[in-house]
Amino acid sequence: MSAHAVRPLQTPAKVNLLDFDRAALREYFAALGEKPFRAEQVLQWTHQYGADSFDAMTNLSKALREKLQHCAEIKAPEIMLDQTAADGTRKWLLRLDSGNSIETVFIPEEGRGTLCVSSQAGCALDCSFCATGKQGFNRNLTVAEIIGQLWVANRALKRDPRGERVITNVVLMGMGEPLLNFDNVVRAMNIMLDDFAYGLSRRRITLSTAGMAPVIDQLREACPVSLAVSLHAPNDALRNELVPLNKKYPITELLAACKRYVADESSRRVTFEYVMLDGVNDSPEHARELVRLLKEVPSKVNLIPFNPFPNTQYQRSSAQAIGRFRAILMEANLVTITRKTRGDDIDAACGQLAGEIQDRGSRSRRYAPLRKAAAQ
Ligand code: SAH
Repeated sequence: MSAHAVRPLQTPAKVNLLDFDRAALREYFAALGEKPFRAEQVLQWTHQYGADSFDAMTNLSKALREKLQHCAEIKAPEIMLDQTAADGTRKWLLRLDSGNSIETVFIPEEGRGTLCVSSQAGCALDCSFCATGKQGFNRNLTVAEIIGQLWVANRALKRDPRGERVITNVVLMGMGEPLLNFDNVVRAMNIMLDDFAYGLSRRRITLSTAGMAPVIDQLREACPVSLAVSLHAPNDALRNELVPLNKKYPITELLAACKRYVADESSRRVTFEYVMLDGVNDSPEHARELVRLLKEVPSKVNLIPFNPFPNTQYQRSSAQAIGRFRAILMEANLVTITRKTRGDDIDAACGQLAGEIQDRGSRSRRYAPLRKAAAQ
């Protein structure tokens, strides 16, 4: 190309309307010189009817539809793989960009359907028992990429060969730490809650955190959905090992934030997740320590049998150990559920979600030789 060659005109980038909650859409339409109620109409078309083009939006004027075609788009992550497990659990691998993909899981149960949503490409926290952590971290997901998981799943489930299935609950328990992507996660949750979009109630959305204590307070102010906390150990020494974030926000600080979170509503409880690792955190003494720890916090406990992945140093606790642990908590009047392992034949169970991440740090390099060995 000569020095004077004319560069092709760049078409201006289109805005992705999946990035906008109702407030942002109203601003957008105001800037276009349109009435604010267009925001509600477009939300409904996009999220309730799954529209991905403006042609279908027949209650918008033709002129507005043409304007939108020119400057906006509705663009969700692309489905690369769609698998259904023997127990009906369905998992999608979604492409974000050239280097990153994430996984989203739908878990059907009697009377409800839960979508497990990812919030980051990879995770920076490096919990010792989690497959996502071993991949390292690339970036936060955009609002469009978070809500896009519901959008994609909703459309696919409407055409499910097993009959139409509905998302009644959302858990932010997929890949990543949602409280480290606070703004985008809150905006995406606003769309989940919006009656013109998914219309879920606050109680049917659960955000799970590894323990970002100060951000738990911010969440209470911004969008007080149900809170789950990945506790996994009843004392700091052990928790430092399993969840390194504990060194920054130790248990006392974390539980104080949890107490504040539910203080205003007497019926609310925090769910504490506790992964059952054989010989590590599953003894009767650990259970008694946990009972003492949670005495002052309105809690429920969710025991999660460890789901193995290649080259992990851990093993799942035996059914007897889990039963014994649970009995001690129940005796102390702690509501305790053992989480059923779902979809493990397609690697869709807790801690098995991996996708493909281009790690920006050194962690995946450290683990790469291990993964290679496992593949052989
Ligand atoms: N970062 C957030 C959300 C993602 S993890 C958090 O830490 O809560 C979702 C849940 O799966 C957490 O409770 C996590 O500790 C658990 N988990 C991770 N790896 C697991 C594994 N291998 N087996 C069972 N549960 C696991």
